[in-house]
Amino acid sequence: MQIEDPGFESDHNHQHCIEQALNTARVLCNQRAQRLTAIRELVLKLVWQNHQPMGAYELLPALADAGFNSAPPTVYRALEFLQEQGFVHRIASLNAYVGCPHPESPHRSGFLICRSCQRAVELNTGNVHHALQESAADLGFEIEQEMVEVVGLCPDCQAGAADAQS
Ligand SMILES: [Zn+2]
Ligand SMILES: [Zn+2]
Ligand SMILES: [Zn+2]
Repeated sequence: MQIEDPGFESDHNHQHCIEQALNTARVLCNQRAQRLTAIRELVLKLVWQNHQPMGAYELLPALADAGFNSAPPTVYRALEFLQEQGFVHRIASLNAYVGCPHPESPHRSGFLICRSCQRAVELNTGNVHHALQESAADLGFEIEQEMVEVVGLCPDCQAGAADAQS
């Protein structure tokens, strides 16, 4: 059960991303004896509506439209559950959430964030983690939280910038 990760490919079938994410969440909740309630599932679907991280407050209107209690604590509780299950990650620098393409096992993750189109792609940061651990240990520092959030331009936006200049 491996979800395909399209990375920064802009012409992928995103409906497929959403379906895979929802199916995987259902299967994993079943295996873990967790309840994917209607509101949790809807919040997951809303976070997955694109590859741009979504702030909790951006989700509220759609919840209200679907007839759910759209008070902020409700959406935060759903997001907390989704984060605990590894279905979404929080991007601290944006205070926003993005779907995880491989939630089956816990992992360290970092993000490449395009400053132009706001898409965020998850990176495996195992190597970064080891480098940080070593450098911190040299200074006698104990790391408690690591956030690897890298801002730049994705391939599409680099091409766009080049077009604009020519
Ligand atoms: Zn997609
Ligand atoms: Zn992840
Ligand atoms: Zn971009």
